[in-house]
Amino acid sequence: MGDLVKYANKFCPKGVSHSHDRGTKLKNNKITCFLCNPYGDSIAINFSKYCCKNTNTYKLDKNQKCALFLGFNYLRNKYNINVPVEIFLIINDIYKSLTKPLKIDSHSIKHMMNCYKCSNEFMLMIDEHSCNRHMLPRITRNSRFDDI
Ligand SMILES: [Zn+2]
Ligand SMILES: [Zn+2]
Ligand SMILES: [Zn+2]
Repeated sequence: MGDLVKYANKFCPKGVSHSHDRGTKLKNNKITCFLCNPYGDSIAINFSKYCCKNTNTYKLDKNQKCALFLGFNYLRNKYNINVPVEIFLIINDIYKSLTKPLKIDSHSIKHMMNCYKCSNEFMLMIDEHSCNRHMLPRITRNSRFDDI
């Protein structure tokens, strides 16, 4: 996670007023941190967000292509069904049209920092779930009275 923190600091969240700092003690010490608390880990693991602007899509790997090929062979041998080769391409295309969910990883962080649809939500997530040990881009609120 430490490397991801460094990585996140390379970016400025698009359209979000922020500063790169450790947050405020009072507020951040109350919470379970998704970066360094074992209970907080699940927050990072469970984080999942879809964005239509995300370019990371699924792709059939070699094993999956092989499995499809074997499956088509099986159909031909057992039921005498000849699956046209276009079906293979169509399945491949369906996969390529599906965007993966954004997770806490370098691709997703880069995307969320640079995407107007994602940056605010990601900044709120960081603000809610990271303790004051981490230097991170953090959303600037109009008033920090809610820290007291
Ligand atoms: Zn910045
Ligand atoms: Zn986005
Ligand atoms: Zn922490």
